[in-house]
Amino acid sequence: MLNLILFGPPGSGKGTQAESLVKKYGLLHISTGDLFRYEMSNDTPLGLEAKSFMAKGELVPDSITIGMLKNKVDAFPDVNGYIFDGFPRTIVQAEALDNLLAEKDQSISGLLELKVDEEEIVQRIKKRGAVSGRADDNDENIIRNRIQVYQSETTPVYDYYDKKGLSHSVEGVGSIEEIFGSLTQKIDSLL
Ligand code: ADP
Repeated sequence: MLNLILFGPPGSGKGTQAESLVKKYGLLHISTGDLFRYEMSNDTPLGLEAKSFMAKGELVPDSITIGMLKNKVDAFPDVNGYIFDGFPRTIVQAEALDNLLAEKDQSISGLLELKVDEEEIVQRIKKRGAVSGRADDNDENIIRNRIQVYQSETTPVYDYYDKKGLSHSVEGVGSIEEIFGSLTQKIDSLL
């Protein structure tokens, strides 16, 4: 199995690249952001709980996020592998993911970081917000808070997998095709 973590700040293009990677490698795409938005759109208790954190640009607590992720992974046991997008976002989530995969005699094959600088990200997210209507994409303070949270809580996840020799970084600015090319080059070297 090929189990990938697509890593990078909000607005770095993880969702866009995940769509193409899914087609090429036949993996299941799991985006915790998408899962939360699905729950929110259905007004489930989980969605209502997540909403209060997402609206402020804060992380949803680990226990909630990990539980939701596990349910999704367990619901699709017979896949070629997973692309985790927007997860893990904390060290606690990374450890939980490793344990979950270990129970299935699986492990992470590699983490791929999309590198994009802060100003580019803010501009991209604002543009996306104008089209998507996502509340957390339409307020510069919330966007900056998400970037801050990424820097303090999420970047340590890169180092966590780097210590295991699993972290890789690619340039996240360029055409969608160029970035896809850089990603697939790294991924093919993992196969
Ligand atoms: P982006 O990467 O553009 O911020 P996402 O869709 O990945 O968008 O996430 C949107 C929001 O969902 C985050 O700001 C956070 O509140 C919540 N969220 C998503 N994934 C996680 C996670 N793994 N842990 C905690 N909160 C999460």
